[in-house]
Amino acid sequence: MIDLRSDTVTKPTQGMLDAMMAAQVGDDVYKEDPTVNTLEEKLAAMFGMDTALFFPTGSMANQAAIKLHTQPGEQLICHEWAHVYNYEGGGASFNSGVSCKLLPGPHGLMTATDVEAAINPPDFYHSPLTTLVCVENTTNKGGGACWDMEVLKEIKTVCKQHGLRYHLDGARLWNAMVAKKDSPKDFGALFDTISLCFSKGLGTPLGTVLVGTHEAMKNAMRVRKVLGGGMRQVGYIAAACLYALDHHVDRLVDDHSRAQEIGNCLQDMDYIHHVEPTQTNIVIFYLKPHLSEKRFMEDLLARGIRLSSMGQGKLRIVTHLDYTQAQHQEFIKVLQEYRP
Ligand SMILES: *Cc1c(COP(=O)(O)O)cnc(C)c1O
Repeated sequence: MIDLRSDTVTKPTQGMLDAMMAAQVGDDVYKEDPTVNTLEEKLAAMFGMDTALFFPTGSMANQAAIKLHTQPGEQLICHEWAHVYNYEGGGASFNSGVSCKLLPGPHGLMTATDVEAAINPPDFYHSPLTTLVCVENTTNKGGGACWDMEVLKEIKTVCKQHGLRYHLDGARLWNAMVAKKDSPKDFGALFDTISLCFSKGLGTPLGTVLVGTHEAMKNAMRVRKVLGGGMRQVGYIAAACLYALDHHVDRLVDDHSRAQEIGNCLQDMDYIHHVEPTQTNIVIFYLKPHLSEKRFMEDLLARGIRLSSMGQGKLRIVTHLDYTQAQHQEFIKVLQEYRP
C-alpha cells in the first residue's frame, strides 16, 4: 500500500521507539515528567516565548488556545477553510461558545485589510465582540501554502490596534519553516499562542505543544485539565518528539520535493483540470469536470494507492516520512499510465 491520505499515517521508526523506551518519566499532571519538561522548555526557548504546554492532539491545543483567548459570545476571525472551523468538530462553539467570522482568500490565506474589515465595532453591542484572529501555517485545505512573514506582521499590527489576540495553528509550521527558511523566533515575536504538531510531518504517534506568552497561558493548565488532556507518564511521547526534532525536521525537504514532482506530473496529465501550487508536502488537485472522483480513487486503490477527497472537488495527496523513493517512482508511473 502507498498511503498518501495524510502525513499522520506514519509509524514510529526504530530509532524513535528506542528513544521512547529509554525516556525518564514522571507524573506530568504534577509537572514531574522530566522529558515533558525538557520538551516544553526547549520549544519555549526555540520560539522565544515564555512558556509551553504539552497536549495529546493539535485539536485540543487549538481548542485550549481559543478558550484562553475568548469569552462565550465573542467572535474569532479565521479563513473559511480553517481547521479550527472545519475539522475540530464544532469545538469553537462547543468548548468556548464563540462564533467564527470566515474570510475568503486563495490557498487558505487572507489579507490584513480583510481581517480589519471583519472586526465588529466594539461599542456596537448588537454584534458579537471580536477578540481573536486565528491563522494556519501551512494551510491544510489551502494545499500546504505558507504565509509571507510580512502579511503575518500586517495582521499583527491590526490585532494590536484593535486589542485582539493572535493564534497560529502551526500543525505544519515545521514544513513552513523549512520551505520558507523563517525562524521560530520570527513567529514567536508575533503570536500570543502557537500550536505545534509532532504527529504530522515529524512522525510521532501523537503530541502537540502549545507555546505562548505568560499573559495568554495563565490558565492553560486548568483549560487542558477541563478538556481531559492532563496526562501522566507522557514523557514516553515527549521523547519521541525530542527525537523527531533532532532527526525529522531537515528531511522535510524530501517530502516537499516529492510533492513538487507529483504536482508537476499531474499538471501534464489530460485527466487533470487543475493543480494548486505546491509549496510543501500537500498536493491539491481537481479532475476534469466530467470525471468521477470516486471512480478515480477506486482505480488508484486497485493499484495499491490511497489518497483523500476533501469535498468541493478537491483531491489531496500528502507526502510523509513513510513514503519512500521506491513508492514515489511507482506512484508517478501509475499517474502517467492512468487512463480514466
Ligand atoms: C492535523 C491538523 C490539526 C490537528 O489535528 P489533530 O488530528 O487533532 O492532531 C490542526 N490544524 C491543522 C491545520 C491540521 O492539519
